[in-house]
Amino acid sequence: MKWFNRFVFILKKIYPNRIWNISSKDKTLYLTFDDGPIPEVTPWVLETLAQYQAKATFFCIGDNIKKNPETLKQVITEGHKIGNHTYHHLNSYKTSTEAYLENVLAFEKLGVSTNLFRPPYGKCKSSQAKKILERGYKIVMWDVISEDYDKNISKEKCLNTVLSQAKNGSIIIFHDSLKAEKKLRYALPKVLEYFNNKGFNFKSIPENIAESNA
Ligand SMILES: [Zn+2]
Repeated sequence: MKWFNRFVFILKKIYPNRIWNISSKDKTLYLTFDDGPIPEVTPWVLETLAQYQAKATFFCIGDNIKKNPETLKQVITEGHKIGNHTYHHLNSYKTSTEAYLENVLAFEKLGVSTNLFRPPYGKCKSSQAKKILERGYKIVMWDVISEDYDKNISKEKCLNTVLSQAKNGSIIIFHDSLKAEKKLRYALPKVLEYFNNKGFNFKSIPENIAESNA
């Protein structure tokens, strides 16, 4: 979709310090799952990924890590990466810079080591982004949004969006949440099957990814 590629291009210009996709000649896709870990959905995601030897990145909510440490352990044991998605899934635009940063730090205190950060709702004021970058984080956005959380979108549309927009180096966003569960359970196996048949690999976001490479 040309307009969509153009849109991502413009976003990159406005936010050069954020990673929207990963420049790659290889057939590699970067699946990301936000808002977990939760026992109702995350273990199923892990089993489904394992069927294709797929590695992914989980942008976890600190509060869910606190509540579900066993589920987090499973994610790590399976060889996936964890990213910081704040402790309480804060909306940047409604939060002071100080309080936002405190929430990022509260996640760090859980003892999960990561240099990947994704702002909830995809929103992050520049003042907050600056502080987060200063702490050594890479701010990871996406170029393909499945909209699995949106109750107005059908599961077929969710699947079709990913199949039609993902390309080499795409960062694809799903949610391992109760809200997205129905669509995720429909779309994820089909996405894996489709791109696996096309010769794609699924990898975690590399920690050393440079913004200039994005
Ligand atoms: Zn989120």
